Amino acid sequence: MASSSTVSVEEGLEELTLTVRWSGKEYTVRVCADDSVGELKRRICEATNVLPKRQKLLYPKLGPKLADDSLLLSQLNLKSSLKMTMIGTVEDDIIVDQVDAPEIVDDFELGQDEVVDIKDKEVNKQKLRRRVNQYKIELLHPCRSGKKLLVLDIDYTLFDHRSTAENPLELMRPYLHEFLSAVYAEYDIIIWSATSMKWVELKMGQLGVLNNPDYKITALLDHLAMITVQTDSRIFDCKPLGLIWAQFPEYYDSRNTIMFDDLRRNFVMNPQNGLTIRPFRKAHLNRGSDRELVKLTQYLLAIAELSDLSQLDHSNWESFSEDNDAKRRRHS
Ligand code: MG
Repeated sequence: MASSSTVSVEEGLEELTLTVRWSGKEYTVRVCADDSVGELKRRICEATNVLPKRQKLLYPKLGPKLADDSLLLSQLNLKSSLKMTMIGTVEDDIIVDQVDAPEIVDDFELGQDEVVDIKDKEVNKQKLRRRVNQYKIELLHPCRSGKKLLVLDIDYTLFDHRSTAENPLELMRPYLHEFLSAVYAEYDIIIWSATSMKWVELKMGQLGVLNNPDYKITALLDHLAMITVQTDSRIFDCKPLGLIWAQFPEYYDSRNTIMFDDLRRNFVMNPQNGLTIRPFRKAHLNRGSDRELVKLTQYLLAIAELSDLSQLDHSNWESFSEDNDAKRRRHS
């Protein structure tokens, strides 16, 4: 039998075991040389529950380099025996934190070549394989045979996390429960947010998504399921659907999965499966007029009969519904 240390070194990727001191205890985190500092912080978050943005990493010889999330660990010459110190506190008031956090609105445009490049790069496929092994999806409800899969982002997709309200229901995207109830007939539903599981559970619970009698949520995923990918010019996090497909291959694959997210870069590992939803912002202003989920209900139900969703160009989803309506009118 091969020892675990040889198995973990995958195609030349050096795996590092680092020790992190925090709050009087020591934690061990395993990362790879091609991971970024941001990725290291996510591993530390898994061990300590301190969110990456709350962490300050200290190691004398590295100075300010550990403050740059985009730097690769291989650029820092880390040794496996290294012990660093982390300063940071676990979130207590997560709602206040969300509102205080700097807003990321720039969905920078990735060129078509760049997109192809990212999903086909061997280093990114390796990261995905590692994440499949590290992140076990817990089912809240069983997968259903014969159903397609809908993966939903939360912030700006189902919820305006930047506005404030006495009651979170005021910030919920209109028609959310009607939408989920209707599409549940054809789709299993997984929620995947780039925030922490604490926030995902809190938010979905407050909105009444986790105990609705008309639909069930199959699973919740958080930022720890994401991977960091890089192009020549950028390093960013994305949500690889391959993580879900690898864990439930008998139910879900690239042909029966569709993902909604207001940030297109989140589905860069599976561009054919992503639909860029209009962000739901300024809830108090737009609550009365936003009908995105009504229209998307029609689209999802219209395409549910197709055997391969990845053949569609989801960027044309609005004209697909109109074409179908026109056909239906002609036939009636
Ligand atoms: Mg979002």
